Amino acid sequence: MLKNYIKSFFLLELLRGLKVTFSNMFRKKTTLRYPYEKTPQSPRFRGLHALRRYPNGEERCIGCKLCEVVCPALAITIDTEERNDGTRRTTKYDIDLFKCIFCGFCEEACPVDAIVETRIFEYHFEERGQNILKKSDLLKIGDKFEKDIAEDQKAKSQHA
Ligand code: SF4
Ligand code: SF4
Repeated sequence: MLKNYIKSFFLLELLRGLKVTFSNMFRKKTTLRYPYEKTPQSPRFRGLHALRRYPNGEERCIGCKLCEVVCPALAITIDTEERNDGTRRTTKYDIDLFKCIFCGFCEEACPVDAIVETRIFEYHFEERGQNILKKSDLLKIGDKFEKDIAEDQKAKSQHA
């Protein structure tokens, strides 16, 4: 009882807290001023998905559905059709980002490096339904970031 009274009177606990504050004040900082500063990312970073094209503009995806089958979260929905030249392409390629757990299995399973996960992690939704990335959205992301994606794919294959 008396001990507690003395502790309160001399603000001992406050002083102990300030000691911790001052002892850390001049240490090397481990925090960053996000979003002005960012942590380094690995080329294997698993962010937003993208569908890629070949340099001639042709879609890489051949609609084999391996990514759909392997997806543990059942986040991918694909429909396909055969084209006049006998090749198969998707008519629908949806990824539900509310279901996706960003495991990267779809990318691993793809035989033609069509579906990939980019380094994009800063995105948000403003309306209901925007969590579903459609084929056109995925291709748009792929077209916009193809240079970075290709570099990351190369780095990944060199350190496989
Ligand atoms: S990252 Fe994983 S959970 Fe997300 S779509 Fe690909 S396979 Fe499915
Ligand atoms: S993205 Fe790859 S794995 Fe998925 S359907 Fe297309 S070709 Fe097959």
